[in-house]
Amino acid sequence: MKIYIYLLFFFILISCSEEIEIETSLPSTPEDLIQHTSEFQKEVIEVTDGVHMAIGFALANAMMVEGEDSNIIIDTTGTVETAREVKEIFELINPNPISAIIYTHNHGDHVYGASVFAEDSDPEIYAHSSTEKYISRVIGILRPIISSRSGKMFGNVLPNEDVENNGIGPFLEIGKDGRTPGLLYPTKVFEDKLEFEVSGIKVVLYHAPGETNDQLFVWLPDKKALFPGDNFYKTFPNLYTIRGTPYRDLAGWVNSIDMMRYLEPEHLIPSHTRPISGKEEIYKTLTTYRDGIQYVHDQTIRMMNLGMGPDEIAEKISLPKHLGDSPFLKEFYGSPEWSARNVFSGYLGWFDGNPSTLKPLPRMEEANNIIALAGGWEKLFSIAEESFKKEQYQWALQLTDYLLLTKPNNKETNILRQSCLQALGERESNPNSRYFYLSSAALLDENYKQNNLLAPTQESINKYPIEAMLEILKVSVVPEKSIEKDIQLLFQFTDTGKKFSLFLRKGVLEIQPFEVAGSSVQVLAKEEDMKAVLTGFKSLPISMVTGSIKVNGSKSDLLSLFSSVRS
Ligand SMILES: [Zn+2]
Repeated sequence: MKIYIYLLFFFILISCSEEIEIETSLPSTPEDLIQHTSEFQKEVIEVTDGVHMAIGFALANAMMVEGEDSNIIIDTTGTVETAREVKEIFELINPNPISAIIYTHNHGDHVYGASVFAEDSDPEIYAHSSTEKYISRVIGILRPIISSRSGKMFGNVLPNEDVENNGIGPFLEIGKDGRTPGLLYPTKVFEDKLEFEVSGIKVVLYHAPGETNDQLFVWLPDKKALFPGDNFYKTFPNLYTIRGTPYRDLAGWVNSIDMMRYLEPEHLIPSHTRPISGKEEIYKTLTTYRDGIQYVHDQTIRMMNLGMGPDEIAEKISLPKHLGDSPFLKEFYGSPEWSARNVFSGYLGWFDGNPSTLKPLPRMEEANNIIALAGGWEKLFSIAEESFKKEQYQWALQLTDYLLLTKPNNKETNILRQSCLQALGERESNPNSRYFYLSSAALLDENYKQNNLLAPTQESINKYPIEAMLEILKVSVVPEKSIEKDIQLLFQFTDTGKKFSLFLRKGVLEIQPFEVAGSSVQVLAKEEDMKAVLTGFKSLPISMVTGSIKVNGSKSDLLSLFSSVRS
């Protein structure tokens, strides 16, 4: 409903003589997106004998497979609170202990509920060998940006009632309503394929790169049940995610689905959306799905080879009717357009091949030129305003880029931009783009306070490897504060015995996991005390005064290093 308020404000503010036009006919949420919510009806489904799916509790499903005297959990949901809710229901079905947890991949909505499922029985946690690295990356060096972009994409910055569903689940629970993460790292990892037996259940894990490079699928040969993780769900797949992701290899994804198809499963139990049973139905559906992915991949490359750039390919690509009409390829999560751009940049990188984009004008110079063309800033503003009234929302939004670049935080432009974003968002059925627009509009509100999606707790930090935390230090060096510095320090952790040599050298921080001779400064601390300082839970000067961090040598060198990494 917010669009109407903004529109009202906008028209009153800009042109008092204008008649107020309110588009009452516009539905605030498109009907197809409302219909899609039924996909996430909250329940526990017994898919086949002893195989249960908890759906609708969280963004991702959690599954339980009953063994003879213990059970297996596949994916754990994304918080302690959602995992607890699911676990209590699973225990009513079968109270036996949990002896194995399997992560289909590293994403938080699958792994952050693990501590709850593990609390009574200390189960083995299975994952691909690269899963730990990817978990650390998201909660490590990329946390600030992934957190902010995920918050927009999932609509976690919006009031709960404004989020109809998230396309692959009802809502993202991580960071929502005070819920907390309960991450555990994998204890048993593999490379290509792993076979084992748990409580009479034969399990085969296949490495299956697709939505993520560490993705696996679970095959229970005796039950003909296959758990595809996030390589299959009932919407067009997120071959690229707008929250930001490493390149998703489409050819590998197709190959992974083909591995599943030829096992001829009778039950397909995805980590998002509902299960499917029936050998023919599953084969047909997986074939449609893999064809959708391969079509986008192959056609993008064909167009690339004809010399087209990513913008042109994105304009041209669309699924043929027989694929586009499939209920499994409706665009409630990914889109062919974003995917084509992903394929282009995955194979060719950022340069589109057009010499005019090789060294574009600085943004400010371009903005000033456009403003001059329009006849001045006020004139460009009124063109943007007119465009909005003519429902050319995208064009009006693009013009606000120039207006705001040249007059940052201009109130009238912010209101116009909010109105454009609201109008674009309201019309979107794809939840990712819908909430990205609507959240961006909400964030333009002066009084809005951003929710920190993946804000770590002190407890979670203690489980976090010190090596990964030191990586964060490297990418936080501020050149202006360090360009004159040349400091060498030795960090020595008194509880684990680990040593790290740090060299801050004119804007670059080198860190080595061993002692390099030549440091006159030794820093002695327990890992958890250093982690608390690195994450800002404790202050460095106070830790030095209380003695939790001891320095042999120049204290000012340590203070100087830390003052170089705070922006
Ligand atoms: Zn997922």
